[in-house]
Amino acid sequence: MATLNKFIKLTPELYDYVVAHGHNRDPIRRELSEETAKLGPISMMEISSEQGTLMAILTASIGAKSAVEVGTFTGYSSLSVAQALPADGKLLCCDVNKEWTDIARRYWEKAGLAHKVTLKLGPALETLRALPESNCFDIAFIDADKSNYRNYYEEILKRLRQNGLILLDNVLWSGAVLDLNDKSEDTRAIREVNDFVAQDDRVEAVMLPIADGVTIARKR
Ligand code: CA
Repeated sequence: MATLNKFIKLTPELYDYVVAHGHNRDPIRRELSEETAKLGPISMMEISSEQGTLMAILTASIGAKSAVEVGTFTGYSSLSVAQALPADGKLLCCDVNKEWTDIARRYWEKAGLAHKVTLKLGPALETLRALPESNCFDIAFIDADKSNYRNYYEEILKRLRQNGLILLDNVLWSGAVLDLNDKSEDTRAIREVNDFVAQDDRVEAVMLPIADGVTIARKR
């Protein structure tokens, strides 16, 4: 059980320390977070600030110019990625909810990023399948209906350049991936995609215990 020595359990205080010691204080992202919190419990769907920073760092460090996300909600992840893209960078956002993405739109405009972002309202699989199967994306974020994760992964992977990254969110599903009594559709879908990615030789993947778990898969 040597691996037990190689991770630590976060406490709320240690988590605050983690957040305080990264560049997680972007004022527009913070303002969006405060507005999203007013939506009530659903605001849990917003990614955490340090996850946004991680996504921004990954976007900038691979020199991404073209990004896609499936599941925009009120826009925190899209703001993080769009801020990190170059001036001529493009982010395609796929979502089905107008009310939530109207909030996102306002913040893209407020941040001066609206010219980089294209929002497609509608089933993301249809949006993705309508795109040519060329190397069009450098980085992708999958954070929508869990039962379609595997489908999103496949459609994006064939449109991802070599060494491009796919990020999958909520891969720990609050720990439910290990609860064998949990046979809900979402939990089974996440377990299945996790098992699949872990043996998929087309990528090199690592699962990070950040927020609710994020897998980063690099296309070989
Ligand atoms: Ca999520």
